[in-house]
Amino acid sequence: MEIPATMRAMLLEAPGTPLRLQEIAVPRPAAGQLLIRVHACGVCRTDLHIVDGELPQPKLPLILGHEIVGSVVTCGAGVARFRRGDRVGVPWLASTCGRCRYCRRGQENLCDQACFTGYTVDGGYAEYAVADQRYCFSLPPGYDDAAAAPLLCAGLIGYRTYRMAGAQVEHLGIYGFGAAAHIVAQIALYQGQQVYAFTRPGDLPAQAFARRLGAVWAGDACAAPPQLLDAALIFAPVGTLIPAALQVTAKGGSVVCGGIHMSDIPAFPYRLLWEERLIRSVANLTRQDGEELLAIAPQVPVRTEFQTFTLDQANEALNRLRVGALEGAAVLVMPGPS
Ligand SMILES: [Zn+2]
Ligand SMILES: [Zn+2]
Repeated sequence: MEIPATMRAMLLEAPGTPLRLQEIAVPRPAAGQLLIRVHACGVCRTDLHIVDGELPQPKLPLILGHEIVGSVVTCGAGVARFRRGDRVGVPWLASTCGRCRYCRRGQENLCDQACFTGYTVDGGYAEYAVADQRYCFSLPPGYDDAAAAPLLCAGLIGYRTYRMAGAQVEHLGIYGFGAAAHIVAQIALYQGQQVYAFTRPGDLPAQAFARRLGAVWAGDACAAPPQLLDAALIFAPVGTLIPAALQVTAKGGSVVCGGIHMSDIPAFPYRLLWEERLIRSVANLTRQDGEELLAIAPQVPVRTEFQTFTLDQANEALNRLRVGALEGAAVLVMPGPS
């Protein structure tokens, strides 16, 4: 396939402004990089935080998008893991230094010099993207391109969040029932847990969606579930949910925050934390998380639910995510090769 000189991309020029469709040069793969024709790219809440200026110092102008599914068009020098034509997934973690104390002790998600796809390097809201081969994944064959995209962040970071809750969880609460929650809930059910879904107050469609996926209970975020939780996962960027979740979490239980940004956490009485309850955040992902999630997803099997948009509808997809008008995930789907 011939590589064109230019491609269409949705560019963020400054935080607080809508993305603009532009014709820009197709990137060239450096040594160790793949040039990928993007087939689908998921839309994540992190993208919204970047657009809204809630994350510091994005690359500008920026191509957002860190749930890229595409096929390898060419390889830079020294690429051995993939070949032209291979289908690959590109996640949030774009590269790490491999040398810092975090990288050396298996915490590459905390690397001091990590680069992030669609934040500090360009991502997949475009017809082509380049990515460091070492951080790309092979994808399970049972998923078509759009269905695989949500696995790459909602799935991956959702799974890391879920694992942080620990192994002895019977009753799992999930706050914010969107893309990550709908994937994690399926894995939790598969592993024998009972799932309790908490949504924005009055969001009956999201509660019905959670019940349809198998949640034993679904209700408002401020409501008390019929059973104390062993762990609560928070995917909504709302700091008041932390004391709310602690309030309904059993002794020794944990509250795990899966998002990259949250509004401030209000003061709360120590008794909510007392009795060895834990609060922790989850940052980024390791490649190990990715391999584990991509192995377990087809076993469950996780079915991703998503709405598709064209590349030039990226702003609309982001707006629908902002107001909670999506069931499952949003995915941009690119036209096939002409
Ligand atoms: Zn994400
Ligand atoms: Zn490092």
